[in-house]
Amino acid sequence: MNFSSTRNNDIKITSAQAIKQGLSEEGGLFVPESFPSVTLEEIAELSQKSYKERAFFVLSKYLTDFTEDELWNCINNAYTKEKFESDAIAPLKEYNDKEYFLELWHGPTSAFKDMALQILPHLLTVSIKKTGETKTVTILVATSGDTGKAALEGFKDVDGTKIMVFYPESGVSQVQQRQMNSQEGNNVCVSGVFGNFDDAQNGVKKIFTDEEYKKLLAENGVVLSSANSINFGRLVPQVVYYFSAYCDLIKNNKIKLGDKINVVVPTGNFGNILAAYYAKRMGLPVNKLICASNSNNVLTDFIKTGVYDKTRDFYLTISPSMDILISSNLERFLYEISGKDAEKTSKYMSELSANGKYEISDDLKAIIADNFYGGFCDDNATKETIKKVFEEKNYLIDTHTAVAKKVYDKYKEETGDETVSVIASTANPYKFVASVLSSVKEDYNKASDEFSLIDELEAVTGAKIPAPLANLKNKAVRFTDSCKKEDMQNAVSEFLKVK
Ligand SMILES: *Cc1c(COP(=O)(O)O)cnc(C)c1O
Repeated sequence: MNFSSTRNNDIKITSAQAIKQGLSEEGGLFVPESFPSVTLEEIAELSQKSYKERAFFVLSKYLTDFTEDELWNCINNAYTKEKFESDAIAPLKEYNDKEYFLELWHGPTSAFKDMALQILPHLLTVSIKKTGETKTVTILVATSGDTGKAALEGFKDVDGTKIMVFYPESGVSQVQQRQMNSQEGNNVCVSGVFGNFDDAQNGVKKIFTDEEYKKLLAENGVVLSSANSINFGRLVPQVVYYFSAYCDLIKNNKIKLGDKINVVVPTGNFGNILAAYYAKRMGLPVNKLICASNSNNVLTDFIKTGVYDKTRDFYLTISPSMDILISSNLERFLYEISGKDAEKTSKYMSELSANGKYEISDDLKAIIADNFYGGFCDDNATKETIKKVFEEKNYLIDTHTAVAKKVYDKYKEETGDETVSVIASTANPYKFVASVLSSVKEDYNKASDEFSLIDELEAVTGAKIPAPLANLKNKAVRFTDSCKKEDMQNAVSEFLKVK
């Protein structure tokens, strides 16, 4: 399998090169030259196997330059029982005989980004070795909260790597801040930035594009890399759990081999739902892909009209990981539905950066209409959904998952479609404790700190507090520094002892 770029079909590189490089030089994203196909017989066999074996099956179709040993090492390091609570890794929870929640939050940070960020560091170290790189890879991350923690947990104590995370000093929750500031590991560093998320992100971008600074780092044996969601090494582990969900439905006699299912995904950057689309293109029997947004509903409009328009108001919602107006992984989707037309994809992307919008051609609109349904819901409806699901089934879901559930309910009402559906559940409810608690109990103690709210949510609902969050308030703080946005490069130099 070779990899090409969404903006240049002449590029032809291995998966190791694509993972190491992250982004193509002309700005495109790396994509496989074709979709490997999977038969129903293979799916039947997989349904009798473990999550790790399912992961090996899917990963080996794309990362063909990795040896079996290399792949198994990555998988065994990432998906351990200790890190994911059980061997199920991504268990499927039956809501009723038509509706299932795919729980993607049993990893160390209680959110779905662990599914990819637990394995990416291992894929990256193998890729680096395979491409002859000898420098220490340093990952720089700007985070609005969750990605930073997931990346820290993934890279902690991974040989040949270091990681530094910047978060906006006043822009993350108490729980998120403590999660990062108490991070363990000998190769990690965390710093606040006085400013908002954009300040932190711009600071990191500036470091990445400073050629002189990169030269200085190289002289010191350091090469920079990023762990953001456009790296192909984050996409392919996400394809695995859609196959796994289908396998579990087969194994438990909930559907027959070949039956189609709907997949519902709460969407921000379009990474998670793109992985479901990849699974469909590989042969997984999928009917509709249901794309759920919060009030930042740029994707809902895009799916309905074919016009992507980011020039609109931006809302801070209670599902913050979906507060996004540029869904970067959509570029991969446009490339595929246009029949790998790199010229067309480039044109849309330059229109987006020049004018903030573009409109796709009618043939592409038709493909989207066949495959997708888009919907959104606001904060009030999100909270009502959390309450309703809890009252109906004594099952607690987080704000992002609630957006998906609400949009799915709307879809069913509009279409009457009774196809068995899998809803991606992307975070443990304790991760967004204040919003979840206020949904199920209006008169909660608003003055409490978040750590007390965790205890109160447990008292009200009886839902189990995930171990990493239960111990958090007693964890020692290791990182207390914050810097001005102009000083981020100095902070990196200090961490790496570069002069
Ligand atoms: C990142 C995230 C999402 C959005 O996923 P994308 O791949 O960016 O579409 C949804 N829910 C949670 C909890 C997340 O952390």
